[in-house]
Amino acid sequence: MTSRRDFIRTGVAVTTALGFDLRPAIAAARELKISRTTQTNSVCPYCAVGCSVVIHTLGDKARNVRPTVVHVEGDPDSPINRGTLCSKGISLKEFIVNDRRLTQPLHRAPGSAEWKPMAWDDAVERIARHIKNTRDKGFAEKDSQGRTVNRLPNLAMIGGCTDTNEINYLISKFRFGLGILSYENQSRL
Ligand code: SF4
Repeated sequence: MTSRRDFIRTGVAVTTALGFDLRPAIAAARELKISRTTQTNSVCPYCAVGCSVVIHTLGDKARNVRPTVVHVEGDPDSPINRGTLCSKGISLKEFIVNDRRLTQPLHRAPGSAEWKPMAWDDAVERIARHIKNTRDKGFAEKDSQGRTVNRLPNLAMIGGCTDTNEINYLISKFRFGLGILSYENQSRL
């Protein structure tokens, strides 16, 4: 049985053999898709390679217009990926425009099997409260030999693959301010 991929390959080969050049048509279709979009540079969130992407958004920024992401592609100016994306990165549009995407914090109470939506303010307040309580319990001013250490061994932090040098700099300021020593980052950009 002929697979879909073989069918397309055969179609392209036959069209080319007949003397048709499909490249202008393919380029025109792409141009049409992004002709009225706003472009935003970003970083693929999926893995530690940290490929740069250009996100194409349709919408004229008027108040009554909801912008829609219509295309995501590799950034040709990026020294990391030079315009390419892997099969996962190229599917980023489906990640952004997705009914199942989480848009607010969820909280699962102790012993519960159910995640419930929570307001951002409540989530931030709750996180801050947990950090404060944990720090109060674990902060050590001196080590066993009486030397000043001001460290917090019972709390750790982890960063994400879209964290830039600048974000990591600020995170370091924050964690050293708290005394946190343990930190890991997926990307090390
Ligand atoms: S495009 Fe692929 S290789 Fe590049 S960061 Fe995303 S997942 Fe990683």
